Amino acid sequence: MKYYLEELGEVYRELGSGENGLTESEAAERIARDGKNKLAEAKKVSLLRRFIDQLTDPMTLVLLAAAVVSAITSAVSHESFADVFIILFVVVLNAILGVVQESKAEKAIDALKEMAAATSKVVRDGEIKHIKSEDLAVGDVILLEAGDAVPADARLIESAGLKAEEAALTGESVPAEKISSVLSTGEAKDVPLGDRRNMVYTGSTVVYGRGRAVVTGTGMNTEMGKIADAITKAQDNQTPLQLKLASLSKTLTWMVLGICVFIFLFSMGRSWIVNGDISGTTILDTFMLAVSLAVAAIPEGLATVVTIVLSIGVTKMSKRNAVIRKLTAVETLGCTQVICSDKTGTLTQNRMTVVEHYGDERLLATAMSLCSDAEPDKNGDAVGEPTECALVNYATGLGILKPEAAAKLPRIGEAPFDSMRKMMSTVHSGADGIIQFTKGAPDELLKRCTRYIRDGEVKPLDDAARAEILEVNHSFAKRALRVLAAAYRDWDTAPEDTSAANLERELTFIGLTGMIDPVRPEVVGAVKECAEAGIRPVMITGDHRDTAAAIAKELGIITDDSQVLTGAQLDELSDEQLAQDIDKYSVYARVQPEHKVRIVNAWKERGAITAMTGDGVNDAPSIKSADIGVGMGITGTDVTKNVADMVLADDNFATIVSSVEEGRRIYDNIRKTIQFLLSSNLSEVLGIFIATLCGFTLLTPVHLLWINLITDCFPALALGMEKGEKNIMHRAPRSSDEGIFAGGMGVSAAYQGVAVTILTLAAYFIGHFLEAGRWEIVQSADGMTMAFLTMSMAEIFHSYNLRSQYGSIFSLKTHNLYLFGAMLLSLLLTAAVIYIPPVAALFGFESISLLEYAVAMGLAVSIIPIVELVKLIQRRVFHRG
Ligand code: ATP
Repeated sequence: MKYYLEELGEVYRELGSGENGLTESEAAERIARDGKNKLAEAKKVSLLRRFIDQLTDPMTLVLLAAAVVSAITSAVSHESFADVFIILFVVVLNAILGVVQESKAEKAIDALKEMAAATSKVVRDGEIKHIKSEDLAVGDVILLEAGDAVPADARLIESAGLKAEEAALTGESVPAEKISSVLSTGEAKDVPLGDRRNMVYTGSTVVYGRGRAVVTGTGMNTEMGKIADAITKAQDNQTPLQLKLASLSKTLTWMVLGICVFIFLFSMGRSWIVNGDISGTTILDTFMLAVSLAVAAIPEGLATVVTIVLSIGVTKMSKRNAVIRKLTAVETLGCTQVICSDKTGTLTQNRMTVVEHYGDERLLATAMSLCSDAEPDKNGDAVGEPTECALVNYATGLGILKPEAAAKLPRIGEAPFDSMRKMMSTVHSGADGIIQFTKGAPDELLKRCTRYIRDGEVKPLDDAARAEILEVNHSFAKRALRVLAAAYRDWDTAPEDTSAANLERELTFIGLTGMIDPVRPEVVGAVKECAEAGIRPVMITGDHRDTAAAIAKELGIITDDSQVLTGAQLDELSDEQLAQDIDKYSVYARVQPEHKVRIVNAWKERGAITAMTGDGVNDAPSIKSADIGVGMGITGTDVTKNVADMVLADDNFATIVSSVEEGRRIYDNIRKTIQFLLSSNLSEVLGIFIATLCGFTLLTPVHLLWINLITDCFPALALGMEKGEKNIMHRAPRSSDEGIFAGGMGVSAAYQGVAVTILTLAAYFIGHFLEAGRWEIVQSADGMTMAFLTMSMAEIFHSYNLRSQYGSIFSLKTHNLYLFGAMLLSLLLTAAVIYIPPVAALFGFESISLLEYAVAMGLAVSIIPIVELVKLIQRRVFHRG
């Protein structure tokens, strides 16, 4: 049916609905019949597919090739297949771990998507309810207002200045004005999509006004569904850090491959010189060594670990009320230098109560109550936007009940609120004629008043009266009260043109209300924390200068009024001047949404990483231009949430600050993980390299694979779970162009890798000495066993070192149970490999004496004092520096 061409009665009949929408059970039946209201998603990758994907990773393929070569030679030479089994075991285990990690990361992201799911306002069982948009059914009656994403295709029943932006469907970026009356095709056969003014469609957004509509199509049966047969999942873009690491991994891979080729050729050459020829087994052994070295040393795990740490961090943040929508935000958060925040609801509680008034109170309260969209519920408490609720409750308190007042003076027209005009108007028809009420920011409203009413008498608004009103406004605002003014206008006949321009002039001023909106107590602490962490909090508000300044002082954002700039003053400044002076101001009052974009851009011009909050329909551009756009979970519009990098589930400024802390912690942990993996890989490559030059085998391929799998993988992940260091919010934000190796991390990774190599070589030679009683450079079974023990355990102990970059690990007040678990597990497994005879035989280990075990462990543990000593020196030097 072409719903736009039919009268509403016909539409309702066709859809089996009515003015009051559906009941819950009807809706449930229809959802069961038509499916959920969502576009089909691309199919998920199956577990098996993922497992196979893991196996086709180039490094795994190299390993599999090595297993095949090894199997053939074992078969030909009738040797045991131990190597083949171990390699296959490692490959399978690696792939399983990979799949598990990948699924975990994906689950975390899915859970976030679920939290960020869109909701709609719908009439069910005759009541207005908030439900998930995917639970909408054909026939549901939905309510729409500025900022909403249209959740389904729907025919309008009512439109109060409703305008929708439908670019996604029609390509037309100018918002279309919507009406509720029936359309006709005229001469043409049909009305094109862009001209169907009484319909709204999925994929468009309401940019102005209010409306009510009955759903005509959901899910794939919408116009959007017709265009997009299956919306493939949005590709999760890689974060800058992930990209940097991917390129680092590539460089290191080539370096390691070069070293492997060198070791292979060098061993061949030596074998040729020493033995006069090269045997098949030599080629195979060296090939295997080169392959396993490549597998052990190529940091293919770097990017994976980062992804996992990021996704775990994101889950943690969501538990602290910050829902990350773009993974990049986690990294950027750690660099945040400026946080621009809305006042109402973010810095304050958005729990308004009228505490002051000026003017004839009964008329004032009636005007305020009728000119509001908030409605009292069964208990008489108003529901709706907090400012308006306060006004309705205020009237109720005076015995003026909104339903009764509205019955006497029903609303027949309106010019909805918008934050540019800072006011709204409603037109009412009553027994005595037509009256219009307007309420809004006193300074703006007063400009449109020509008279005022006092004790029932209307007088011209002369300069003295104007001055008095402004003085009262000032005195309320100074006390941090949010002040609203009300006015009225009489009409002989109902105005046909209900545009703001036509309604909001020649008004008669009624009075003022002053309402308190207490600050959020936790914000005071958060502002202090910002100061310590080198972050600048900035308040941006549509509210009056004096109100803004009073609240900012209470929160500690400013100390005197010179740090306040108004929207009007901002208009006087050029972009260059603003960028130059931007750090002088911490409060912007009476601003309009477009000012926010200028403020963000000025900070960006100064090179500062800036977060910006926003809730209203016009805030999307500034959220988009900020480095971190922050949407509001409770009061925010869909439009802003959809472009935000992060959404605050509790609308709270303090949550932004705790996310910054979390962002810093995650970045720190990623660096710790990288440093750990790089130093471990270096120690392996260097050890094998030196041993090859000296003509003995330090560790065999399976040993390297084992170390790589057990002793590298688990501590790396455990380091990713490390708690924040205690100075985390006492240092300046890191610069956004800082490299991964900043702060001497590369050097640290290098010396630590070298240290582990030296300890491992020492273990090898001591092992041989304890077995043979001589110091010499020869192949030694005990030496190899001890080298294995030292290297694997040294890496475990070293992971403890990395819990703090410069601080002593003995000064840490926190514990990392994951790391402790990883250490215990490695200790047990390593002992098992050495001491359980059949396993030891597989690995070619000698059963070493208790003394040898103690020496190897002693050497391994000594990586802790070595690094502690260097850190001590570093701390001294830095302090002096
Ligand atoms: P913030 O930007 O910190 O959220 P705000 O809530 O004051 O501050 P806006 O919502 O843009 O910002 O409101 C701007 C001004 O418009 C307010 O200071 C008030 O004077 C007026 N105003 C706010 N809500 C209404 C309303 N529902 N009806 C009429 N005027 C309003």
